Amino acid sequence: MSPPPEIPPLKRPVTSLWGVGAERAAQLVRLDILAVEDLLLHRPRRYEDRRHFRAIAELTRDEAATARGRIVAQGLKRFRGGTKSVFEFVLDDGTARLHCRWWNLPFLEKYFAVGDEVFVFGKLVETKPRTLDHPETEVIEGGEEGFIHINRIAPIYPLTEGLPQRWLRGLIWRTLGRFESQIVEPKPAPDLKDFPARANAVRMIHFPEELIDVEMARRRLALDEFIALQCEMRLRRTKFEANSRALPCGGDNHLMKPVLAQLGFKLTNAQTSVLREIRADLGGTHPMRRLLQGDVGSGKTVVAACTALMTLESGFNVALMAPTEILAEQHFQNLARGFDPLGLRVQLQTGSRKTVEHREAGIESQSRPAPSTLFIGTHALFASGFDLPRLGLVVIDEQHKFGVAQREQLVRKGNYPHLLVMTATPIPRTLGLTLYGDLDVSVIDEMPAGRGHVKTFVRKADKLPKVWEFIRKKIAAGRQAYVVYPRVEEQDTANDIKAVTREFANVQRSLAPFRAGLLHGRLKGREKEGVMTAFRANQIQVLVATALIEVGLDLPNATVMLIENAERFGLAQLHQLRGRIGRGAHESFCILISSARTDEARERLRVLEETTDGFCISEADLKLRGPGELLGQRQSGLPRFRFGSLTEDLDLIRRARELAAQSPRGVPEKI
Ligand code: ADP
Ligand code: MG
Repeated sequence: MSPPPEIPPLKRPVTSLWGVGAERAAQLVRLDILAVEDLLLHRPRRYEDRRHFRAIAELTRDEAATARGRIVAQGLKRFRGGTKSVFEFVLDDGTARLHCRWWNLPFLEKYFAVGDEVFVFGKLVETKPRTLDHPETEVIEGGEEGFIHINRIAPIYPLTEGLPQRWLRGLIWRTLGRFESQIVEPKPAPDLKDFPARANAVRMIHFPEELIDVEMARRRLALDEFIALQCEMRLRRTKFEANSRALPCGGDNHLMKPVLAQLGFKLTNAQTSVLREIRADLGGTHPMRRLLQGDVGSGKTVVAACTALMTLESGFNVALMAPTEILAEQHFQNLARGFDPLGLRVQLQTGSRKTVEHREAGIESQSRPAPSTLFIGTHALFASGFDLPRLGLVVIDEQHKFGVAQREQLVRKGNYPHLLVMTATPIPRTLGLTLYGDLDVSVIDEMPAGRGHVKTFVRKADKLPKVWEFIRKKIAAGRQAYVVYPRVEEQDTANDIKAVTREFANVQRSLAPFRAGLLHGRLKGREKEGVMTAFRANQIQVLVATALIEVGLDLPNATVMLIENAERFGLAQLHQLRGRIGRGAHESFCILISSARTDEARERLRVLEETTDGFCISEADLKLRGPGELLGQRQSGLPRFRFGSLTEDLDLIRRARELAAQSPRGVPEKI
């Protein structure tokens, strides 16, 4: 038997370290620490400057601080028949005395003794006598390892039950000493003129000489995370390109010309230049992998349609995937209208509508042996058993509604077709570069001319009667409206749907004789379709809906949107919702009703009153709610960073991308 291949030192399990037995290892696993490397990258949650202490006499109620003193008295009091308790000790540092209390943790008594020297961290809850409740503490022990914990800036780590701060700090100190020389620069490595060496940064993140070193170290370690990620994405891309050859889908314009001619508008410059990029991709040697970014209403659908036409012209099939049935249906209706006269086949495939063929069986289409087809659908389009032959192009609309894994899976289905993913979530650049690092990016940064303005108002619920009056007036003038209630999630109880239903009855009553329709995710496909058809035809004037309508709907006559409980939506989502109006020439109005009790929540909504720039809004949302929330789902494919911050580190992400691009073929050697 050959000996097992040697494990690189930093990848060794923590159990190989002195002093780490099964019990400690099990605790460390709970902190995601399995290997030596994980331990070295365990990020302190804060630092304590144990070279300077706050005198107990100077502790305040406003600011948490560290004090140091000796326990002069301690005791445990039980009450309520012994079911409740409070443990307390009194600390003296020569300036004053400090009471430290813990409720219902009687076992703490064992950990402290009169005469112990202790660090405590917290802010006062009372001043007479000075009292801390549940402070963080650490008993000061001199001895061999004393210098690790005192007279320095000490790291305070996230812990788990049973794991002492002091023990973990000691372990990390010793592990650093032993393995520091194994920490090498990644390849490609950043310029050490601008950043500390990686090994240095690891030391500084744990045991900084000064507090300002911490941020320098964090940035270096964040950069390394971004480098690793960008290299991985480039590697994926490189592999993909090595294993795939592009189908020739550049087209010859014979379908595109007549479609553009009957469009009724001229493409914007932005649309034209994006199409030029796409045409080059479709005629190139590698399959296209392109992200099309454009704010709501910027006209991505036309670009998708033209891209489809190029492929169809070349004799290949196209699949267009939308995140909801309603949107798939809308694409189907719009595109079929334009494509039918040319004898092109358009098919719809959703969960509730299977392979409906839409064709006016023109003579031309019959004279062709196997006319290429545009398939439109939801993810059902790719459900097992439905294999698309000669698939030249996959277009994914509203990509942010799908996960990255899903995206990959889809494209594998076919024989490496070209891929165009479109997103209206104006993703902040940090996220875009992170999530879509393996894609080329095109941006539509120009709105079609002649759009009506959207005015946005944030109002409290007591203004609702006036708002309804306003909506009636607009409907009387011939316009239509959306009324939106917070989303009904799958796991929600039936009560939530009832709430929507009850509101619906109210709306019906208060708007009679105008008609309202109800739309939410629990309706059957056919029912949704019926409501949408009636709304499109203006047989109903008001659509009462959940956030289901946030993506893609395009009805220029709908010019009013009322969103209740607006505080329950993210800003980016509200921006998407608002994107449903302002699509025609009429002036549009978005009214956000906030029942939030806090001013802060209402302030947040003001961003929408102030700007319609999707990028500003999503940057604000990212700062307020973090990336997971912004993307709306866990499956967003976003990696977890220990040090990197998607709200702060745009410069680092850019730099990592540049570095990765310089490395030969983007293959990371070792990180
Ligand atoms: P989104 O980018 O949000 O998907 P759509 O593709 O739905 O936007 O386009 C919004 C509306 O703008 C549609 O009604 C579409 O017909 C119209 N539109 C698209 N491009 C132009 C243009 N160049 N000039 C005028 N209207 C356009
Ligand atoms: Mg769209």
